[in-house]
Amino acid sequence: MSDLLERLRARGWRLTAQRRVVAEVLDGDHVHLTADEVHARATARLPEVSRATVYNTLGELVTLGEVVEVSTDGRAKRYDPNAHRPHQHLVCSGCGTIRDVHPTGDPLADLPSAERFGFAVAAAEVTYRGLCPDCAAAA
Ligand SMILES: [Zn+2]
Ligand SMILES: [Zn+2]
Repeated sequence: MSDLLERLRARGWRLTAQRRVVAEVLDGDHVHLTADEVHARATARLPEVSRATVYNTLGELVTLGEVVEVSTDGRAKRYDPNAHRPHQHLVCSGCGTIRDVHPTGDPLADLPSAERFGFAVAAAEVTYRGLCPDCAAAA
């Protein structure tokens, strides 16, 4: 579990009913939802949750560092509550399913200094692409 709600509670995050539902929707493993998906799931639980509240809450959670923005496909940004354990993403080119994965190497350390061009390199994102088992079976 990402235990997002617990982390937010521990930080004293102001939990209104609407903000709580947004955080609940994002809780769990391998969760990478677009803002629209968060909104759809939030309104299924609490119909009055507005799109603006979803966007504002997501922005706030990102600023707090409790949720990370992920863009893997040049389309809509996705929101990932697994913010505290460094991980990379495995993306299905068929259905877009995303799994959190943990490569054995360190992608940041793997960049030779000769190819850093004097940058103080702070982060690396690696996306592994392929077909998930369901899409491979359907192909
Ligand atoms: Zn797939
Ligand atoms: Zn992730």
